[in-house]
Formats: sequence, structure tokens, C-alpha cells
Amino acid sequence: MGRAAPTFALAGLHAESNPRNETLTLRSAFRELHGRDLLAHREFRGLDDAAWRLVGAYHARAASGGRLDRGALSTLTDTLLDALARGPHVDGVLLCTHGAMRADGLDDADAAWISAVRAALGTGVPIIGVFDNHGTPTARSLAALDAVVAFRTIPHVDQVATMRRGLSLLAGAEGDERATHVAWRGAPLRLPSERAPSDRGPLRDAIARLDRLPTDVLSADVFIGNAWAPAGAATIGTVAMGTDRAQTEAFATATTRALWSARDRFAYPMEAGDLDATAERLQRGSDDRLVIADSGDAPGAGALGDRVDVLETVLAHATTRALLIGLVAPAWHAACEGRSVGERVALPRPGRHDAWTGTLAALPRPMGTAGLALVVSIDHVSVVVLDQRDDVPLPTAIVALGVDPEHYPVVALKTGFIPDAYLSGGATPWLALSPGVTDHRSIPGAAARR
Ligand SMILES: [Zn+2]
Repeated sequence: MGRAAPTFALAGLHAESNPRNETLTLRSAFRELHGRDLLAHREFRGLDDAAWRLVGAYHARAASGGRLDRGALSTLTDTLLDALARGPHVDGVLLCTHGAMRADGLDDADAAWISAVRAALGTGVPIIGVFDNHGTPTARSLAALDAVVAFRTIPHVDQVATMRRGLSLLAGAEGDERATHVAWRGAPLRLPSERAPSDRGPLRDAIARLDRLPTDVLSADVFIGNAWAPAGAATIGTVAMGTDRAQTEAFATATTRALWSARDRFAYPMEAGDLDATAERLQRGSDDRLVIADSGDAPGAGALGDRVDVLETVLAHATTRALLIGLVAPAWHAACEGRSVGERVALPRPGRHDAWTGTLAALPRPMGTAGLALVVSIDHVSVVVLDQRDDVPLPTAIVALGVDPEHYPVVALKTGFIPDAYLSGGATPWLALSPGVTDHRSIPGAAARR
């Protein structure tokens, strides 16, 4: 007689907090999904399996930003607990989180809500955490979880595969009476994510170890952690779960030691330099298109996206037409309101009393998750301006504005990770170590190493 497939609930709170961004993240910044809408969302599609029945409880996610408002954290936690309480009885819970959520005055906000879930469910229901590998489990969050799985790619492309690994662990625990042990071994290394892509270097080597687990280790993952954490808080590390305590601890220790020993091999996968070096690179010109990452002010890593340092550098030093994409400037949207394409507009310069004179080149259009984008031209530089923080739009969205990035010899993006779509056709990437809350040079030890 086959047993009926177990029922698992999907739930979670996901936010990466960059404490250097002093704007508090409010509940309004979260996309909240309930029930069937949660299971149908593109981020969670592909989790169906004959081995389990999945119910959507509640999941809330915000883009990377400042610390959470305490009221938001408690409301989101209550909403999640309420959704689990109203749902059917389940045999296990998958909690999807980032692992670097901080609230106002509370550094380990993930542990707070995860512990609240454990307290509500009791010890009889297995709970597995799905973490971003830029987060970090803590002793307190691990104490409330039966296991943790994490993404194995940077940039991330394996979110669904990681959730499936978590669900498989829950399914495997069904009817297995063996006690399991969870081990975490961390090491203090604050590392900009851009230095740790998963397709090369120490992170690739550490991930390869995860395919050769000792017999009694059931699961293991490695973490790069969050470079913007308060001093001393961020660590690289390894989490492992197994039925043999000694093997599990030894595997976590050895894997973290391998990462730590290779720490000098973490390197940018492209040329990088500060704004002076970026200016020289622009003056030197290029046979290829040059694609610049404005890494110090990347909203994807929690920055505001409103700094104009790279724009000023491109204006002063680009010898050809250039396109800057993703500047967050609500004031420029206000300045363009009611204007027609081709009209001159005064664009206030942040932190100064003067303005650039630009020309409106494309009217506002919906872009990305919520906001609007328009295009203005200042001299030889066109700027795609967003009215709110968002990840850099992909080229297809820019083309819809009537501007083709491939036609510009120089493109600058408000991101640390240049999407592949911007590098097609032989473009050269350049990482600008620019000012901003995600300035790599402000991480102790990070800028000294190449
Ligand atoms: Zn991440």
C-alpha cells in the first residue's frame, strides 16, 4: 500500500537589508502573495511533484533596501502566522527567505520571524528554510529550522531548483525516524558579491564539493554572506544537515576552511577601477561597445540609485554617444510632466543648486515591477530615468522606450552585475567602483585585493 503524498505549506518573508541605506523599508515595499496566487506566481512555478501536495500559505518579498520598519516586520509576521493557522494541517513547511533581513534596532530579523513560526507550529512539524546564498543563517534561526538549503548560483538562476531540494528533504524526512543534526561553520570575510560569481574561483570549487557528500550527510550548502552587514556580522560559511553528527560537522568545517583558504582568489570577473580609472577607460575608447557597471549605487544591492557620479564621469569623458540606464530621479519625472518630446527641461542636480539642461527624448512608460521610465538627453548622453528604485531594466524594456542600447558605444548601468543581454555582440564590461552605499571600497580589505 502506497502512502498518500504528504502536504507541505509554502511561506516566507524575503528582504535583504543594507543598513547603509538609511531609508526604512515599509510594508508598502512588499509584494504579498496568498494561497493559489502564491503557487501561480512565476517565482514559484515548477514546484509540483507526485511526491508531495503543496499549499500556498503566504509569501512577502521586497527589493533590497534599508532596514525594515519594526511595525512592518510585526505585521508581516502576524500575516504569515495567520495564513499558516487558517490553512490545512500540513506535514512540513518550506520557509523561503533571504537571510540578511534586518529591522530597525534588530539585526537578526529573520531569526525573529522564523522563531515565531516554530513557536506557532511546535516541534512536531518539520520546517526547512530556503536561503539566498548572500544571506547567512544564525544560531537562532538554525535552532528553529530542521534544515537549510541555499541557492548555488550567483547571479541567481536556481531558485526553483533550490526550493525543490528543500521539498525533497521534507519528503525524505517522512517516515524516517533517524534524528538529524545541523551544523554551521562560518568565517569572517566580507565580500562584494561581484567578486564571487559561482562559475569560477573559490565559490565554484566549494559548490563542487557539495556533489560529493559523505554517506551520512543528507544536505549541505555554502554561503557568501552579505557584504553590507554591520561589522563582524557577515560571514561566509557552510551549513550541513545529516544523521551523523561528527560527519556533518566535519563536512561543514572542511568546506568553510576550503573557502577561507582560497579567499585571495576571489576576484572581479572583469576589469574594475574607481571613477578616475573609469574616466581613463572612457578616454581610451574601445573597438567594442563598453558597458559600465555603476556598482557603488546599485539598487539591486540596496542602494538608492540616485547618485550622478558615473553620469558626470560619462558626460565629461565619453568621446562618443552614451546611454545611462536606471537613474532614480522622481524630480526629473516631475520636471518632465506635461512636456512634449523635444522640449528643453531643467534637470535638478542632486545635492547642488544648479540644474542640467536636457531634452525630453521619450515620454514616461511603465517599467519593471511598478514604476515609470522616461528618457532625457544631456549633451551626448541619453539617460533612462526611473521614478522609483528598481533593478536595471533589461534591453528589451529599453527598446520599448524607443532607445536601443546596442546602438550606443558606451552604456552605463545602475548595477553591479551586468545582465548578459547587455553584453551580446562583443561588448567589454567595466566595473566602476563608484561612490554610494554599495561602494566596494568601503568594505575593509575588499578593495585592496584584485
Ligand atoms: Zn542574492
